[in-house]
Amino acid sequence: MKVKIVIKYGGTSLSTAKQIKDIAGFVSDNSKKNDLVVVCSAIKGTTDRLIEISAQVNRGNRACAKQTVTQLIRTHRRLARQTITDLQNRNSLLDSLKDDFVELTELVDGIVLLGEITPRSKDYLLSFGERLSIKIVAHAIADRGTRSQSITGSDAGIVTDSNFGESKPLMDTTTLRVSKTIGKILAGGMIPVIGGFAGADQHGHITTFGRGGSDYTATIIGVCMQADEIWLMTDVDGLMTADPSIVKDAILLREVSYVEATEMALFGAKQIHPRTFEPLLTKKILMRVRSTSNTSNPGTLITPSPSTWEEKTIKCVSVRRHNGLVDIRSGNMVGARGTAAKIFSTLAKAGVNITMISQSPSESSISVVVNSTDLDGAINALETELLGGIIKRLEVTVDVAVVALIGSGMRGTVGIAAKVFGAVARHNINVAMIAQGSSELDLAFVVKDEDAESAVMALHEECELSSINQRFGV
Ligand code: ASP
Ligand code: MG
Repeated sequence: MKVKIVIKYGGTSLSTAKQIKDIAGFVSDNSKKNDLVVVCSAIKGTTDRLIEISAQVNRGNRACAKQTVTQLIRTHRRLARQTITDLQNRNSLLDSLKDDFVELTELVDGIVLLGEITPRSKDYLLSFGERLSIKIVAHAIADRGTRSQSITGSDAGIVTDSNFGESKPLMDTTTLRVSKTIGKILAGGMIPVIGGFAGADQHGHITTFGRGGSDYTATIIGVCMQADEIWLMTDVDGLMTADPSIVKDAILLREVSYVEATEMALFGAKQIHPRTFEPLLTKKILMRVRSTSNTSNPGTLITPSPSTWEEKTIKCVSVRRHNGLVDIRSGNMVGARGTAAKIFSTLAKAGVNITMISQSPSESSISVVVNSTDLDGAINALETELLGGIIKRLEVTVDVAVVALIGSGMRGTVGIAAKVFGAVARHNINVAMIAQGSSELDLAFVVKDEDAESAVMALHEECELSSINQRFGV
């Protein structure tokens, strides 16, 4: 029986003509054995460029915005020419891209004229990256003699709420529509190539899922199509015990659970969109993180039901660099209800995302970690709204790193904390803050950024992550 697989290519896999041709070859060959649905990100760097355009418009830099559009169009046209060999196929691709180029140019002219960009028009603008890439990939597959059809997320039937820049799918409507449109393409004997990252709200306005959102598209489509497996194809072999650029003997993880992968999503070399696993929780579809170029490697299996021995292992040590730590202090907070709520809602109103929280049992201090890019906004909001009121003092540490040990093997195991902090202390590293969720899936702590790499190396060695995962994983 044929297996139904949603296969998603990230931007790093879609950079050169050679890469796209290789992908087309792989998809075309694999489609003889399996039913494939392809999901694509934008060509590498395109979304960054589109964001640049919106920033240029906001800064009133009209000439630059138009120049960036011209460059984008030129790059895509060149890539299309280099990728497609068959003349007729190449011309049909160039013709079809022309329509998008015209629309993109008109859109940028429009926002340049207005001199401002709204969240709604920004999503419309950002969606062009995937609109262009899917056409190139679909034509590349056709160049191999395999029939294929490109379709955007919104045309495929992904319906979302109207939260531009960070939308969520309305899964019931989406499932009905996607299964119909994509089902039709498959029934016609063609491989669908769906644009990741974007959908449309109920009024038909284009929305996006936020950076890295094509992973999320892949799982949404997987659920809609009742896929057997979802493969996230990327530029690394899979999820690893640590970032190999920090730890030389880091090894590939053969198997991790959904929950572990969710914890690992924000860290590590392969970043996965944080909501990627949401659609899967009730559907339990197997997932793989695999290398685009090293196709003989099966990668990391992400499973809802890990084997018992996998449940007993610690999987990896990860690090998130360049964060800020804010320690919020006041005697007034002791026993005062609603203080935490006030602090968090002040930060939320300022658009600050908190990545880690801890409160002292005395209740006189709450510490939060935020992205370095959010630090200024966080301090500003706390200072103007709360300092002198419920807050007496703010202490800020810039450039800290969050190190996390992740794996269900920590659950209920005595002595992990002693081991971890013993190792860190032996390396003379000071720990500024600690958090462990009661699920005991991860143990995270904050160190100065300059100590981050030694902390990761120390833990990888102390917890013997290479050998335990080798032993269990193979
Ligand atoms: N193209 C989008 C981005 O760069 C979505 C994705 O790559 O997953 O964020
Ligand atoms: Mg990505």
